[in-house]
Amino acid sequence: MSTCTADSALLEHYVKKILAAPVYDLAVRTPLQPAPALSALLGNQVLLKREDLQPTFSFKIRGAYNKLVQLSDEQKARGVVTASAGNHAQGVALAARELGIQARIVMPSTTPELKVLGVRSRGAEAVLHGESFPFALAHALQLAESSGCTFVSPFDDPDVIAGQGTVAMEILRQQQGPLDAIFVPVGGGGLIAGVAAYVKYLRPEVRIIGVEPEGSSCLLAALRAGERVVLPSVDGFADGTAVAQVGAYGFEICRDWVDDVITVSNDELCSAIKLIYDDTRSITEPSGALAVAGVRKYVAHHGLRKQTLVAINSGANINFDSLRHVAERVAAQACNEF
Ligand SMILES: *Cc1c(COP(=O)(O)O)cnc(C)c1O
Repeated sequence: MSTCTADSALLEHYVKKILAAPVYDLAVRTPLQPAPALSALLGNQVLLKREDLQPTFSFKIRGAYNKLVQLSDEQKARGVVTASAGNHAQGVALAARELGIQARIVMPSTTPELKVLGVRSRGAEAVLHGESFPFALAHALQLAESSGCTFVSPFDDPDVIAGQGTVAMEILRQQQGPLDAIFVPVGGGGLIAGVAAYVKYLRPEVRIIGVEPEGSSCLLAALRAGERVVLPSVDGFADGTAVAQVGAYGFEICRDWVDDVITVSNDELCSAIKLIYDDTRSITEPSGALAVAGVRKYVAHHGLRKQTLVAINSGANINFDSLRHVAERVAAQACNEF
């Protein structure tokens, strides 16, 4: 999908925004950590970018803060409205509290409780509305329109994309030696757009591979159709990435600069949660394990050996109760293998 005729001026525009993003007022520089057991299993060196260690347990704080900090004083005074599956919500809530901005956050009624509590405990107003993200989004847009508050998209906004792109800035500084590919989880495409813009500008030989859940592969659908499409339905297991349509700003970058997109099943996500646990003793949420599930599938499919592969562990916000289901799926798969 990468072409040399594609517009590198667009990349430069984003690289400048990424370098100027003041995300470290709130976000932390996360480790790029070797995963020895996974590396041995796959015959490649796998490095985990530990975005699950951010203050809100996902990278979303980067984009949320970069957006809110750049609002005008008048916009700040009026407040913001956003729709989110839960992680952007917590990022906006934390950023808004830091900047003294009123925030109203619409989340689907199916949002894991700990994400709702994560919003309320940071002083923002949580409105539960709709079965899934598209319904919450429609409601939030209406609220913004009727109240005069600024709508803050979780992914379809250049400042949000630039904030997420700071993940790539860290990865390239942390891994100055061999680097063959970066695996990026995809929901609405903000993270992968920021990562692709930065990496393709500076190290175009590094492959950018998007990983989506089978039940919400809106970037793959858009790339195949040559335009953004709306998926007729979306599976909610990987709730952080259950998006029906990729963002317009992100798609503009992804269609030229993303090398490949693969999808993984919910069972493959459960296995990846365990693989990450085995190497780090940390739990990730289903969306947070997408990249590792993608690495595993991609390595098997392409027979890769001895490459250096980065997987972005994007979040850890899973209800404790849901771990029972994850463990059961892993156990069931182990049985099926015999
Ligand atoms: C939001 C999110 C993603 C995907 O990011 P997009 O910018 O929407 O593509 C991946 N993982 C987690 C944990 C998220 O919260």
